[in-house]
Parts: sequence; C-alpha cells; structure tokens
Amino acid sequence: MNAAPSPFKRVAIIGLGLIGGSVGLATREFAHGIVTTGYDADPAVRARASELKLADTICETAADAVRGADLVILCVPVGAMGDAAREMAPGLSDGVVVSDVGSSKESITESLTSALPGHCIIPAHPVAGTEHSGPEAGFATLFQHRWCIVTPPEGADADKVSQLVAYWQTLGATVDTMDAHHHDLVLAVTSHIPHLIAYTIVGTASDLEDVTRGEVIKYSAGGFRDFTRIAASDPTMWRDVFLNNRDAVLTMLQRFLDDLSTLKDAIEDGDGEVLFDRFTRTRAIRRSILDMGQDDSRPDFGRKDHG
Ligand code: NAP
Repeated sequence: MNAAPSPFKRVAIIGLGLIGGSVGLATREFAHGIVTTGYDADPAVRARASELKLADTICETAADAVRGADLVILCVPVGAMGDAAREMAPGLSDGVVVSDVGSSKESITESLTSALPGHCIIPAHPVAGTEHSGPEAGFATLFQHRWCIVTPPEGADADKVSQLVAYWQTLGATVDTMDAHHHDLVLAVTSHIPHLIAYTIVGTASDLEDVTRGEVIKYSAGGFRDFTRIAASDPTMWRDVFLNNRDAVLTMLQRFLDDLSTLKDAIEDGDGEVLFDRFTRTRAIRRSILDMGQDDSRPDFGRKDHG
C-alpha cells in the first residue's frame, strides 16, 4: 500500500468507534511518521482500542490525548461534539487544527466555534461508513476512493485547510471543499433522507398484520433487504443527524413527499407514462454512480468483505 509524508506529526483522535478507529488504522497504514493518540469516553472502548492498536497511545483523558497534537479529529456522535470539545480544551496547543468527521456540518461548526474560541476549526466529513459501529468495526481502507468533504468556515487559514486536505488524501480519500450549509443540503438528499426512508419501510414491514414477519424476511431479496442494511445503522448517530440537520432535512423531505405523491397519483390514475419516465431517469443515476466507482455492480454490492 502507498504511504506518503503527512503535513501533521501528531494526530489525536477523540472517539474510537467505526470512524475514529478507521482514522487511527488508516493513519498508521498510509501516513508516514505520524504519532497517534486516542481517547474515548467509554473505558471499555478504550481497553478494546488499546488491544486493537487503533492509536499508538490510548489516553485516560481527552486533555491528555490532545496534548502536543497538531491535528485533533473529533469522531464522536454529532450531538456530543460540543461536550467532547470542552473536555479536551485544557490540553490543546496553540496552532492546533481542530477537525471532526460528523455527518452534518453547520451545527457542528457552531458548537465547536463556541466551545473553542480562538482555535483553528476546520470541519470535515468523510462520506464513508458501514452500518456497523464501535471499535471492532474500524478498518484501514475505509476511506480509500471515498469522498471527504472539508467545510472551512469563512476566514479559515488557507495553509491549514490545504494541510487537512492533504492528510485526508493520504488516507486515500478524494477531497472536495464546500460551505457547511451546502454540505448539509447535499447530504440531506444523498444520505439523510435515504436513511429516513429505510428506517420507515423496514419499520412498516415489521408492523404489518396481513404479511407475516417470516414472509418479509423470506422474500426480502425483492428489494427490502437492501433497505435493511441502511436501517441497521447506529440509532444514536442517526438520531443526532436528524436533530442537527433539521432544516436541510425538512426542505428535502418536503420535496420527496411531493414527488412520492406524484407517483401515488400516477398509480391511482393508471398513468404508466409518468411511472415509466421516472423509472427511466433514475436508472441513469445508478449508471453514473457505478461509472464513478462509488458502488459495485455485483448483486451483493461487493459488501461481503466487510460483513
Ligand atoms: P461509533 O462507532 O458509535 O463511535 C463513537 C464513539 O464516540 C463511541 O465509542 C462513543 O462512546 C464515543 N463518545 C461519545 N461521546 C464522547 C465524548 N464526549 N468523548 C469521547 N468519546 C465519546 O460512531 P461512528 O459511526 O464512528 O460515528 C462517529 C462520527 O462519525 C459521528 O459524528 C458520525 O456522524 C460520523 N460519521 C459516521 C459514519 C458512519 O457510517 N457510521 C460515516 C461518516 C461520518 P459511547 O458509545 O459510550 O457513547
């Protein structure tokens, strides 16, 4: 695997679950000469992270973990970012870059800015993950060929933004930059609404009276099982995403409900042309995703490797 020099020498990872663990493992595998420290609020996670060597040193406090670091990455649930930032604040060095991996960006930017006044805050979001969580779920190649969106606040130090971009590239990601508001709209439609739909359809199917749960599971290959993978995602993470990306989600949800109602009308009216047109347009999107290498055309989506 390729390894490249990094602009950072000491990276602290706060939160050692799927994403934090993967950042630690990817840093060891792909970035040259970086020392990593890690901290998690849960003592059992710290013990497991130590066994799995998710970071070079696992510390007992957040302040100890960030002491001397030139990059800190918060990998905790979106709703815990502010508390995690306040807890580590006493250990932060001057000149440190504080970043995160949270799935919504406007509210995190606000909570980090108010928790850490005077510090350089450059939020980011690797658009990579699985439905698994916890320290066991991390793996070094999670970010390879995936996008990472960096959302520098207005006036952010351009050199430090470039250093953060270079770091994520070293971990294997392709990096885009955009403002936090736009990120939240894009992710509402590409990630947050799809999760809401999956949680809904899987919940609906398991509550039906006329179709048994056994039948739903037995015949799931008809489409349902692809929703179940998404609907198995971590409840804490997704509760926080919807509470923190409320406005963008509500905007996109209204749009979705309008379109759903158009399809419902077409079914009621027996209007095959509307249905056929819509289904033809959506096939082209699937083709573009495959062409960009963002998914696998095999029937199991090539995901068996990561459980
Ligand atoms: P995870 O596997 O549940 O790991 C999060 C870890 O952070 C848990 O061990 C949690 O401990 C710990 N934690 C909570 N509050 C803390 C605090 N104040 N200080 C230190 N540690 C704390 O979650 P994840 O999937 O890695 O998600 C982490 C972040 O990545 C979230 O912001 C999420 O939006 C983002 N993200 C996730 C994905 C994905 O697919 N999962 C993709 C991209 C980005 P407890 O369990 O005890 O609370």
